[in-house]
Amino acid sequence: MSKKPEYGLLIDYEYCTGCYTCQVACCQEYGWEAGMSGMQVMEIVQKLPKGKAYLNYLPFPTELCVLCAARTKKGLQPACVQHCMAGVIKWGRLTELAKELGRKPRMVLWSPR
Ligand code: SF4
Ligand code: SF4
Repeated sequence: MSKKPEYGLLIDYEYCTGCYTCQVACCQEYGWEAGMSGMQVMEIVQKLPKGKAYLNYLPFPTELCVLCAARTKKGLQPACVQHCMAGVIKWGRLTELAKELGRKPRMVLWSPR
């Protein structure tokens, strides 16, 4: 049986500007080839009344995300967390992050399988 994950990422995407810095930071940290990353910024178009639309950005980890285990063991923040100027991504213990999840909408809690 696989061990239950202890750590994860809390993504508060309300203030995500879609700058893609988190995605690039992960590529630089791990030297991924173009188009690959542990983080993928998705564009979500929300249709509004009167033909208007609102564009949301949602940064979401991919199967390549290793939660920057080598960095966090040294006391550093994951590369994506460190480089997000908007403070959208938070790394920590799942039990602690889960407490914050109920604080407001537009948050996602993620952990590796
Ligand atoms: S999560 Fe942060 S770094 Fe990533 S796209 Fe959003 S604002 Fe930019
Ligand atoms: S936690 Fe590390 S491996 Fe995961 S997406 Fe962020 S930078 Fe990439």
